[in-house]
Amino acid sequence: MSDDELPDPDSEPYWQGAASGELLYRRCGSCDAAIFYPRSLCTECGAPDPKWAVSKGIGKVYACSIVHRPPPSFKDQAPYAVLLVDLDEGFRMMSRLAEGDAESISIGDRVQVVFNDGPDGRPTPYFIPA
Ligand SMILES: [Zn+2]
Repeated sequence: MSDDELPDPDSEPYWQGAASGELLYRRCGSCDAAIFYPRSLCTECGAPDPKWAVSKGIGKVYACSIVHRPPPSFKDQAPYAVLLVDLDEGFRMMSRLAEGDAESISIGDRVQVVFNDGPDGRPTPYFIPA
């Protein structure tokens, strides 16, 4: 789905968690799948209303890509690293390296979440080397 990033009732607790420094995801009560980006149905088995859970925010870089030519609103931040991170709780999320040398991050590196102001001004999860 292309509208995953839009605020909606399903994701509002997620953004409230981010505002207080917690990375939230959902855990299916039926099949135990970790679900991210948070949705109201389990993405594995379709069971309704998975429970909210707090991630420790620590994981491993699954993939990374250096952006040298960003969209205009990020122009002054390039180059930066876009990351796919496998969190220890078993879900994968896309984010960015918050600080440090974009070239220094590698697949398999351990990273930890931090919350910085995102493009829309809301606290948003980024990662730093753990
Ligand atoms: Zn499930």
